[in-house]
Amino acid sequence: MSAKAEHRFVCGLVNGLHARPASVLAEAASVFAASIVITRDDGTTADMRSVLSVVGLDVQQGEAFVISAEGVDATAAVDALRLVVETGLDDEEPVSSDGTECRLPPVLRMMGVEHAPGVGVCGGVGIGGAVCVGGLTLPAEAMQAAGAGAEAELREAGTALERVSRELTGRALVSQGTEAALLRAHAQIANDGALWKAIESRVREGATAARAVVGAAEEMAGRLRDAKSVYVRDRAVDVVDIAMQVIERLLPGAMEAARPVLERDSVVFADMLTANQLLGFDRRYLKGLVLGSVGRTSHTVILARGMGLPCVVEVANASSGARHGDEAVVDGGGGFAICPVDDGVRRYYERELATHERRRARVLPLVCKPAMTSDGVRFEVGVTAVDATEVGRAIRHGADGVGLFRTEFLYLERDAAPGEDEQHEVYARVIDAADGKPVILRTFDVGGDKPAPYLGLSREENPFLGVRGVRLYERRPELLRTQLRAMLRAADGRPVKIMAPMVATVAEMRWFRERVQEARAEVGGQPSIGMMVEVPSVALSIDRFAPHADFVSIGTNDLCQYWMAADRGNAGVAGLCDELQPVFLRAMRRIVDDAKHAGLWVGVCGEMGGRVANVPLIVGLGVDEVSAGPADVAGVKLAVGEADAARCRDLLEKACELDTPHEVREVVRTFAWRAERSAPGVIDAACIEVGVDAASKAEAIKAAVNLLSISGRTNGPRDVEEAVWAREATYSTGLGHGFAVPHCKSSAMRWPTLAVVKLTRPVDWDAMDGKPVHTVLLLAMPDGEAAGGGGSAHLKIFATLARRLMHEGFRDRIHGCTDAEGLELALRDELGL
Ligand code: PEP
Ligand code: MG
Repeated sequence: MSAKAEHRFVCGLVNGLHARPASVLAEAASVFAASIVITRDDGTTADMRSVLSVVGLDVQQGEAFVISAEGVDATAAVDALRLVVETGLDDEEPVSSDGTECRLPPVLRMMGVEHAPGVGVCGGVGIGGAVCVGGLTLPAEAMQAAGAGAEAELREAGTALERVSRELTGRALVSQGTEAALLRAHAQIANDGALWKAIESRVREGATAARAVVGAAEEMAGRLRDAKSVYVRDRAVDVVDIAMQVIERLLPGAMEAARPVLERDSVVFADMLTANQLLGFDRRYLKGLVLGSVGRTSHTVILARGMGLPCVVEVANASSGARHGDEAVVDGGGGFAICPVDDGVRRYYERELATHERRRARVLPLVCKPAMTSDGVRFEVGVTAVDATEVGRAIRHGADGVGLFRTEFLYLERDAAPGEDEQHEVYARVIDAADGKPVILRTFDVGGDKPAPYLGLSREENPFLGVRGVRLYERRPELLRTQLRAMLRAADGRPVKIMAPMVATVAEMRWFRERVQEARAEVGGQPSIGMMVEVPSVALSIDRFAPHADFVSIGTNDLCQYWMAADRGNAGVAGLCDELQPVFLRAMRRIVDDAKHAGLWVGVCGEMGGRVANVPLIVGLGVDEVSAGPADVAGVKLAVGEADAARCRDLLEKACELDTPHEVREVVRTFAWRAERSAPGVIDAACIEVGVDAASKAEAIKAAVNLLSISGRTNGPRDVEEAVWAREATYSTGLGHGFAVPHCKSSAMRWPTLAVVKLTRPVDWDAMDGKPVHTVLLLAMPDGEAAGGGGSAHLKIFATLARRLMHEGFRDRIHGCTDAEGLELALRDELGL
């Protein structure tokens, strides 16, 4: 007997009925015989068992929908679904707000520039043609291939879909939490009735299985991309992902478009990008990366940092958001990408690059001195690198040595392990490039997210917890012996440090040390032998390892992921795998204190040490060395030079008493960790420029802020610029007669500064007398605990300036100055500063 039942609901989910709740509903519906549909108020309906169709309805929070069933168990089905809707649907977790989230600079914001927001993980600006990687396109021969008949093609498509679905379900069973839910939702997409129908109809019209899968997935993804909800739009990537997996089974190797050849300056756009894919690109042409779901400390990102490659991650639909070949910009510091680029954007970034160059030229002499804190504590800043060119460049730009040379990249992307001579040549070049400075060569850390298929290791469910680093050596001792011989021969009597990765037990370290001694007996050399501290088992037993290690270096990437039990490559748990988690800082403090107590030299070689903002904490830990990516060495070294080691220790102690990374960031930002010293004067020729070409008020303000950055008076020019605009929003600072005095207080400012820009053509400023502005006097003051008495000084200088500008004589004098030095003298004299 056929029965009917229905129930009306109002969607309470903040993110609407997106994939995960839809998949829970589809799963619940699948146990009933009745046909079940979901209907929106506008009459559109979807099969309850098709996740894609339900998601495609795009039901938003607060919108009503009806679930109706028809069949023998209709009432039971609606009752069950009602229970699920009312109690069993989880909303998406909020995304962690930590990190360098997207901030479009004011100039671009005012131009209304369209951009793709993300999270900046490697600063700098990259410009080039967009190269989209990993799209769902079949090679031409697959497009032209004739089908084997509808039934045979359908069988093939069905088998491939089933295999993918089974694999995903299997992975979901051994996963937990968000990842398991996501894998289940993906498995359901592979099983989705609507997807299968779309494939079937294409095959019946004559398409091959592969073409039908691509066509059906594109159609589905296209529909999802049109949805209002960002969560639903993002599901388009899931459909493409499933289709790519199915195609790989139907036509092995057909997804080779995931490895395009770069032939000119390029910015790569990809939803996912492995370390191997990145290494496959021609470095001469690779200018930046715009990535989707790639974790912030994954090896892809680490490599990008090592290459000094501007990189933004967590960009929604990264590979489909740009058109192949269009000119693109990736702004790593700003956390976004722009594609295509117009004249205004091009002009903006040409100036950014010029500013960057001027700043680099200014700091070079400073960073080439040996690093030391302001209170005289010696502190080396090494470079983390993967090739000799990087090492040479970093040493020439101030690195005190090589804190970590990752050798495993020699082992990847090839069919057999590198031989002794090949390795010898590479290491000799690295040691040469270090020019007498200390070099830490790490023995190969293959495994985890760096697989080398020729090693024939069995597939592991959890490669990060499997046979990687030192664990591999006992199984393949000949590989280690070859590498150690190559290292010792390359050293050729020069001091070199050899370090083992992933050491977890004292027995491993003893074994490793014995192997180095054996190699020494064969080829000679006097290496110092050390180990990474990156497995938590070491953290509380440093004293037990000390007799077997001459030095240790803390690998914060792995140590943090294992300490927090949060995958370093999974963007979904990036908030947990955060080196500023106070519980992690406490672990670091304990490790360093114990290592120092045991008389060990201690370095930090994970990504944490390369972030300039972390310098006060790293100095506070009391380590001997920190290793940073080539692009970060200068910044880290400058910050070390400004730090007061005693104050940094106080800061670290304070941070260890907090509860969240956010609180730690705040305390680091506002704590007075720098040495007190006599501040430079407010007026300085380095902050004055005559003859600046600006097309707008925004460009003129930017030009003045650039001077603050070039002269080293701020490390956060974007913060200062935003603070200026916050003030401009309340009233115009165009005081009349062609003069403007924008001003701000910002914790990104080091010292009170008057930056002066004389423009070649006046710009509109909405000034009091309606006249355009030709001279900009930007007054920027420090804020926060570090600022001392900045508040009243700010008002005094501003009032003096405003008063003097009333006098024609003063204005004429400023007008008459044609160079920075003249202006500096005139301003000092007139303002009494
Ligand atoms: C680390 O784990 O911090 C480290 C430096 O090693 P890798 O990132 O290569 O695992
Ligand atoms: Mg590691």
